[in-house]
Amino acid sequence: MSDSKRLQPDSLIVTSGRPDAIPGASVNTGVSFTSTYVAPDGIGYGRSGNETWTALESAIGGIEGGSTLLFSSGMGAISAVFSLLPHRSIIVASRNGYTGTMYLLQKLESDNQCEIRYVDIAHTEEVLAALQGANFLWMESPTNPALEVADLPKIIPAAKALGLGVGVDNTFATALNQQPLAMGADISMNSVTKFIAGHSDLIMGSLSMNDEALLSRLTMQRKQGGAIPGAMEVYLALRGIRTLDVRLERAQKNALEIATRLSAHPAVQSVRYPGLPSHPQHERAASFMKGFGAIISFEVKAGADAADRACAASKVVVHATSLGGVETLWERRHRWAGESEHISQSLIRLSVGIENVEDLWADIDQALSAIH
Ligand SMILES: *Cc1c(COP(=O)(O)O)cnc(C)c1O
Repeated sequence: MSDSKRLQPDSLIVTSGRPDAIPGASVNTGVSFTSTYVAPDGIGYGRSGNETWTALESAIGGIEGGSTLLFSSGMGAISAVFSLLPHRSIIVASRNGYTGTMYLLQKLESDNQCEIRYVDIAHTEEVLAALQGANFLWMESPTNPALEVADLPKIIPAAKALGLGVGVDNTFATALNQQPLAMGADISMNSVTKFIAGHSDLIMGSLSMNDEALLSRLTMQRKQGGAIPGAMEVYLALRGIRTLDVRLERAQKNALEIATRLSAHPAVQSVRYPGLPSHPQHERAASFMKGFGAIISFEVKAGADAADRACAASKVVVHATSLGGVETLWERRHRWAGESEHISQSLIRLSVGIENVEDLWADIDQALSAIH
């Protein structure tokens, strides 16, 4: 176990969370289906802990560089963070972001719980100015679905120096591409549902952190708030994280190729992918991210209805929401009423999977050519 600290992240996702390698031991941690434990020792009750959780928590914690708590969903994890904020806290948050998070922030504000300062997260001066007098900074980077990249190595230390708590939604990048805790953030959050689990078969969230006091507060919040995952889902996500590095490598390679070809497609108005030199924060992303992720957003010239028709015309790419799975998915974001006004009506978010890139491109091209 102590040796594992010296391993690289792409090894840690494979080696951590296994039983001790003693002769005759199983290689994998089993699925612990229990709601309670024999008194007087151990976990006690199944809302407090579970052996299968511990295995996945050590695997995610290994790459995030901290202690990890699993939650029943990404939103369950984010809700637990916001629930710790004192009444009337001032929160600085990206104006674009995951719709569920934006809804929670708007609710905190309309209930007079907190004041929210929305910022363009890519505009570092604007973010730094908004930090003055604030209590908490919540950043998604890259943002969903605008793919804006925040200057995390600059903003996080600045926020910490002013005494703010800092949380980063690391879902789009994953800890294999960027490590918010190493840059000084208090919390790195993941929708485990997406890349970590990676097979579009479960919903789960995680929070990683280094501070013991924060860990015990969030442990208590999970136990009393009750947003705990099921053991079977945790086992599936543990199995998923084992291949995260190879899935991501392939998906990112596919994504760069498809983003490049989309940029030259006559039906396409504009393409956003942090790995493209044309992306406004490409240099910034390249300076601290190990990879650019596998999500592309693009607008079609012919408008919203045409975008819907293109999404419906694909045969390999699945027309569905969500992201981060082995299979490629796309959708027009504004088919959801909650999508931000800053996002174009014709924007399609494409989550690139690990299929053969020529099969993907042939399908995307035929779907877009049909509406052109
Ligand atoms: C999906 C997602 C969430 C919410 O996670 P769930 O697991 O669906 O609750 C939060 N942030 C981002 C960036 C997401 O993509």
